[in-house]
Amino acid sequence: MAVETATFSEQTDIQRDITEMVRQFVDEQIIPNAEKYDHEDSFPEPIVEQMKELGLFGVTIPEEYGGMGLDLTTYAMIVEELSRGWISISGVVNTHFIGSYLLMKFGTDEQKDHFLPKMATGEIRAAFSLSEPEVGSDVQGIKATAKKGDDGAWELNGQKMWVTNGLGSGVVFVLMKTDPKADPPYKGMTCFITEKEPWKEVNEGDFAGLNVPPKIKKMGYKGVESTELVYDGYKCPPERVLGGEEAGIGQGFVQMMDALEVGRVNVAARGVGIGQRALELALRYSQERKTFGKPIAQHQAIQFKLADMATQLEAARLVTRKAARMKDAGERSDLEAGMAKLLASETGKFCVEESFRIHGGYGYSKEYEIERLYRDAPLLLIGEGTSEIQRMVIGKKLLQRHKI
Ligand SMILES: Cc1cc2nc3c(=O)[nH]c(=O)nc-3n(C[C@H](O)[C@H](O)[C@H](O)COP(=O)(O)OP(=O)(O)OC[C@H]3O[C@@H](n4cnc5c(N)ncnc54)[C@H](O)[C@@H]3O)c2cc1C
Repeated sequence: MAVETATFSEQTDIQRDITEMVRQFVDEQIIPNAEKYDHEDSFPEPIVEQMKELGLFGVTIPEEYGGMGLDLTTYAMIVEELSRGWISISGVVNTHFIGSYLLMKFGTDEQKDHFLPKMATGEIRAAFSLSEPEVGSDVQGIKATAKKGDDGAWELNGQKMWVTNGLGSGVVFVLMKTDPKADPPYKGMTCFITEKEPWKEVNEGDFAGLNVPPKIKKMGYKGVESTELVYDGYKCPPERVLGGEEAGIGQGFVQMMDALEVGRVNVAARGVGIGQRALELALRYSQERKTFGKPIAQHQAIQFKLADMATQLEAARLVTRKAARMKDAGERSDLEAGMAKLLASETGKFCVEESFRIHGGYGYSKEYEIERLYRDAPLLLIGEGTSEIQRMVIGKKLLQRHKI
């Protein structure tokens, strides 16, 4: 059962209704089943099918394309609830959400008409691919290339790494170098919308040349697959350059960085969600477990842990919602999104570790949910830019805003 840490709610009626609906779904469908899928490291297909029925793949997609047309703030609230259940479930929609954001903001009308209705229902899912085996933080260092052929199509070559939903997705938004001599390098990068057959390791026909090696084995974040992607002579038609050739060539880096800004709010919401669950588990366990003649919750040292968890969590939630609201209002929010991602991912990890300690030896047992959270939480320190990278973004923006 969810534990309310704050009685004051800033939510609108729609936000309250939808988060309550998602919370009930999480309590009934995700939390009781997460352990099984985590243990098998298998894709939670029945849960994902129900999410499609609830419309959760089209939360931010406009109604004219079959989505709910809701804002980033509401989306962040939904992601927090889903992540309270299992961060792998939010991983299934996360890159999909970033792909739909890219289409809505930069796509041509034809690209929107072609993809958004199928994405709103979850008929196809999207992946988002920047990272390569030798490059993560330093995105300008990517090596994969796209070269225009005589037939007008772009030929894509190179290896991508850590692609969430790499196998099950039907479309991958991928960053390629189109002008290797560009100086600075980011000006020579383009985002391609590459289609593929979902769940197929070796693609054929129109999608030949895009192959998916076996999924990467991970310590946590199971159930949702992370894969490499190998582009080997994959032909991408010119109309699949994000925004069209005229507007899109050389714009990929800027487009992807824009998308990362909303992606960071999304990861921040995941940090709050996993932290919230860790707090709930700690509140319950500490009132059940007794030492020295009383429940451990009656020891001040344990109460201090609970207090620190709840306080940091509330701060992380507020900064996450602030960053989302700024983006919804059309304001620049790179500084706030960086702060939200940094604070909330670190808070998520902190709360999980404190809850783990409160569980004593049982926290180390697979019988207890906190063990899974302990393996899941560190991912949030890395994805969408590490904590070090967030501090770099925040520091740079602060100095820009306060130049003397
Ligand atoms: C499970 C999982 C899912 C992922 N999903 C996706 C996905 O869907 N799409 C995608 O494109 N990528 C994805 N990633 C990749 C992720 O974005 C990168 O791992 C992340 O950006 C860090 O890059 P890296 O691993 O190459 O680390 P590196 O960039 O090699 O960094 C290594 C260390 O050095 C630090 N560091 C780097 N540069 C500096 C600096 N200038 N100053 C100080 N410290 C620095 C980093 O903070 C880190 O601690 C995923 C990763 C994981 C683990």
